[in-house]
Amino acid sequence: MTAVHHPSLADLTTTAVGGPVNTYVRAETEEEIVAAVRAADQTGERLLVVGGGSNLLAGDAGFDGTVVHIASQGIQVDHASDCAGTLLTVAAGHSWDDVVAWTVENERVGIESLSGIPGTTGATPVQNVGAYGQEVSQTIARVSVYDREAGRRTSFAFADLHFAYRDSYLKRTTVDGSPRFVVLAVHFQFTHGELSKPVRYAQLAQHLGIELNQRAPLADVRQAVLDLRAGKGMVLAPQDRDTYSTGSFFTNPIVSDDVIDSLVPANAPRFPVVDASGEPVQGSTKLSAAWLIDNAGFGKGFGLPGSRNERLGIDGADVAGGRASLSTKHTLALSNRGEARAEDMASLARVVRDGVHQVFGVELVPEPVLVGLSL
Ligand SMILES: Cc1cc2nc3c(=O)[nH]c(=O)nc-3n(C[C@H](O)[C@H](O)[C@H](O)COP(=O)(O)OP(=O)(O)OC[C@H]3O[C@@H](n4cnc5c(N)ncnc54)[C@H](O)[C@@H]3O)c2cc1C
Repeated sequence: MTAVHHPSLADLTTTAVGGPVNTYVRAETEEEIVAAVRAADQTGERLLVVGGGSNLLAGDAGFDGTVVHIASQGIQVDHASDCAGTLLTVAAGHSWDDVVAWTVENERVGIESLSGIPGTTGATPVQNVGAYGQEVSQTIARVSVYDREAGRRTSFAFADLHFAYRDSYLKRTTVDGSPRFVVLAVHFQFTHGELSKPVRYAQLAQHLGIELNQRAPLADVRQAVLDLRAGKGMVLAPQDRDTYSTGSFFTNPIVSDDVIDSLVPANAPRFPVVDASGEPVQGSTKLSAAWLIDNAGFGKGFGLPGSRNERLGIDGADVAGGRASLSTKHTLALSNRGEARAEDMASLARVVRDGVHQVFGVELVPEPVLVGLSL
């Protein structure tokens, strides 16, 4: 366990904004994570848990407590048989995309569409990460945690995690990046096979040249997802400013079927809402936040010098001096163009959120965890 003083939250997060931290502890084993969290709790210091920092937007004033950086590593097969499948335990700090790559190479089915999502495995159950028709909850059997309130280790079975769209009990008990439950390891259950789960995302099926709900070889699905994501600036790339982001900045809003037609025109994309096991939920529909942003007049690159929202009469460069903009590849990502501060990112987020509300009456809700910052 290494304690270093005064690194910056900008160094620890993919948006590369955020001020200094008081105490920084890099924890490389479960024991080190528990010890670091206990030590911070005993002194009464505020605690911020950081994995890959890819879903965190931290304020310019920084963090006056302890940041515990989760860096534990390891993938372990607990059980493997053709009828029960594979039970896999992954340490919280292990790179998520390495886990996906492992499952594809070893013919374990269920997370191939979650390829290319940055960050750590321990963070995936927190917001129930999802993409291209899959959610991580569909393969999680159990999550091992340290309960800060009780001061002991425990574990949650799938049903007790109350997974929902970009949400879980773990997220609902996290305040300002300070979780009650610190994830130590995630336990997955996978079936075996060479083919993917049925592909439920039209653009992905089209890219693979298959019909919706058909299966494709695991490696093909992974590659297709990586290709699609790269085209949208949704895979981290140091040379690409569009990727200095938190990925999608707003969740796709879920609206009641009773009011949907009064909010958006018939041609607005609509997606079914599914529960934690992938079953459709009746009575409400998910809208595309990217479409709402675009159709409220905020095009790709809005915020850069020369960009303008004609519909609402806003010059992009007036929002944050050109330092923060929508990605030039995707309207849903807010990016740091090089010199942005957290307040620049927040100004852009506010203008986009308020503009969408003005045009469509739909409230966009931020997806990343905001620390020391509010919109
Ligand atoms: C380019 C890009 C693309 C993205 N694409 C997607 C996508 O397709 N789908 C998607 O769902 N997300 C996406 N994201 C968001 C992000 O990558 C995921 O949410 C990821 O799981 C966050 O992992 P992390 O380790 O970086 O978490 P952090 O950003 O470090 O933390 C996020 C939150 O989880 C908490 N946390 C982290 N680790 C632990 C732990 N061990 N125990 C308890 N709490 C913890 C933190 O305190 C914080 O509240 C994208 C982000 C980027 C930058």
